[in-house]
Amino acid sequence: TGMNIAFIGLGNMGGPMAANLIKAGHSVTGFDVAGTTVEGARVAASAAEAAKGADVVITMLPNGAILRAVAADVIPAMTPGAVLLDCSTVDVESARAVADLAAAAGLGALDAPVSGGIGGAAAGTLTFMVGGSDEAFAIAKPLFDIMGQKAVHCGPSGNGQAAKICNNMILGVTMIATCEAFALADKLGLDRQSMFDVVSTSSGYSWTMNAYCPAPGVGPNSPADNGYKPGFASELMLKDLGLSQQAAEAADADTPMGQRALELYKQFVEAEDGKGMDFSAMLPRFEKRGRG
Ligand code: NAD
Repeated sequence: TGMNIAFIGLGNMGGPMAANLIKAGHSVTGFDVAGTTVEGARVAASAAEAAKGADVVITMLPNGAILRAVAADVIPAMTPGAVLLDCSTVDVESARAVADLAAAAGLGALDAPVSGGIGGAAAGTLTFMVGGSDEAFAIAKPLFDIMGQKAVHCGPSGNGQAAKICNNMILGVTMIATCEAFALADKLGLDRQSMFDVVSTSSGYSWTMNAYCPAPGVGPNSPADNGYKPGFASELMLKDLGLSQQAAEAADADTPMGQRALELYKQFVEAEDGKGMDFSAMLPRFEKRGRG
């Protein structure tokens, strides 16, 4: 039997995620401030109207400030016992603040950011990293199973966001390391296929080398083979690296590589030609540069 679901934020990710819930037989009421709709969903006039009477309210929004504003609207409209399920990538503090607000209203709350991108959202193969109570996780689990292939319960509220930004800090740092090493190999006269063959089976291997190789024509098919069209855009990587540094500052953690990765993606997106390019386009960036 289907649940009553409110889905707020029907953008690149939220749209296909909502469509999968509808396809699985759930009743979805959608709201997006841009007027975006999803076929088969009822359309609400506001986030609060969508949330009224819902068993689960899902949010898929751009950032923590918008999440806080939407949560302040929807929480008073929700039925006690219902679950607020945020799938956006936001700062840990916002996730915890929203969870506290929900708990005070007798609601369950989960922070459940995803990896897998737009392709994963459409295919229903996202990975969810989830913070919140066991009870709330159990209620949302059937929805994770529809929208994704895996949901890892990481502990209390905020821990889903913590897992996401730690993962993406590794990803950003590793992508840069892989790209600068390819550019160095070029200058040393090492061909890219040899570089791939060695590193992908040696101790320098990584997801960025083996599964998402930034060099065109080498390794599995990746955005590099498609003119560096995203994929995962550099500005989204920049956002996530900013969140990890924000969290590191709040927690007094020393993250020098994450800090440097943030600086490089910031320069790439804001001062160079990285905007709108996949985050693996760091390789052509390094190719063009010398030490100067
Ligand atoms: P998007 O900009 O396409 O979608 C966000 C939607 O939220 C938009 O349609 C916007 O109109 C809507 N919105 C903004 N303010 C609103 C409000 N007050 N009320 C209702 N709707 C509002 O972004 P996206 O790519 O779908 O990403 C959503 C989240 O998922 C982000 O936090 C992003 O970091 C994260 N994420 C994205 C990807 C990706 O590959 N796109 C991958 C993993 C995680």
